[in-house]
Amino acid sequence: MNCFSLIYIALAIAFAKAEFIYSCTEKKTIALTFDDGPFQYTKQLVDYLVEKDVMATFFTVAKFHYPHAIDTQEYQDAMKKAHDNGLQIASHTYGHKIPDDQSDFKQVLTDMDDFIEKVTGDRPRYFRAPKGNCYEDCQSNLDKWGYKLIQWDTDTNDWDLETSGSEEQRIEDSINYLKKRFSEENDSYLILMHDTENYTVSDIAPWIIEKSGMREKGYRFVTVAECLGDRDGMYTSGKTYGVDKTDRTSPTDNGNGNSNGNSNGNTNGNTNGNTNGNSTNNNQNNSSSTPNTTNNGNSTIVTDENTQSLTSGASSLKAFGLISYLFLGLATYLLVSN
Ligand SMILES: [Zn+2]
Repeated sequence: MNCFSLIYIALAIAFAKAEFIYSCTEKKTIALTFDDGPFQYTKQLVDYLVEKDVMATFFTVAKFHYPHAIDTQEYQDAMKKAHDNGLQIASHTYGHKIPDDQSDFKQVLTDMDDFIEKVTGDRPRYFRAPKGNCYEDCQSNLDKWGYKLIQWDTDTNDWDLETSGSEEQRIEDSINYLKKRFSEENDSYLILMHDTENYTVSDIAPWIIEKSGMREKGYRFVTVAECLGDRDGMYTSGKTYGVDKTDRTSPTDNGNGNSNGNSNGNTNGNTNGNTNGNSTNNNQNNSSSTPNTTNNGNSTIVTDENTQSLTSGASSLKAFGLISYLFLGLATYLLVSN
């Protein structure tokens, strides 16, 4: 590596800032995420997940698909049941839109958090941008306001009926893609789906849970917060819900590789726990991921099949900004000495 590439890397790291979180950090985890609900299929999905003892995360909206969640008690009941059983309720904006104006943005976030609190009793700390689009201002605002900005590393494209042509083909296309991804046996998966699609609820999600074979391989289905080692950080209250799943393992967990291994030192098993001081350090373990500072404004390009684990977190990047200065110093020294 020559001095210039060293300087380039150092600068890239130094100017990195609040960014998307693409992947889980906890090994052998699968975070199923469902966007755009609650909707008419959400109740069926929540009932199913609770029955199967599977954790997942909902990035919810208040006023998007009709009839709107704000006006539909049945949808809100599904949200509440999910929350009370330990599934994670997160924000996906109020109306599936991020206003350009900063104060308007803050307002729609607050409105959504108010709605989630009205339904569940808690305010979310996790956020996903509509279509994953959140430019630099949006990212730094979310960082400033204390949200964790979640993307995905595995996109089922379940919404895309047009490309597939029929629901049957869509199911097959999504499952074929997942088969390919799962055959890679990555450390973890953060999977994007939509509970606004009936076949996602009736076919794609059940295939992942029951037929993909991932549980048998030792993977656990967890919330996004838990897959980031931030189990108690999903809400501002620091509370978690549902039965104590601290020792939850997959049914076939054979005790080799400790699937509960918590690399963040967050071994607190208190399900009624209070705010966990470790929650901001969850991404430290991913420091080796290359921060992709040039693609911030074009997140859709990472939703395709070539997506790799591009995990990066604001906290890790800030921490490594410091290290970058050491790189700079070294690079300067090498330049001078040449
Ligand atoms: Zn959406």
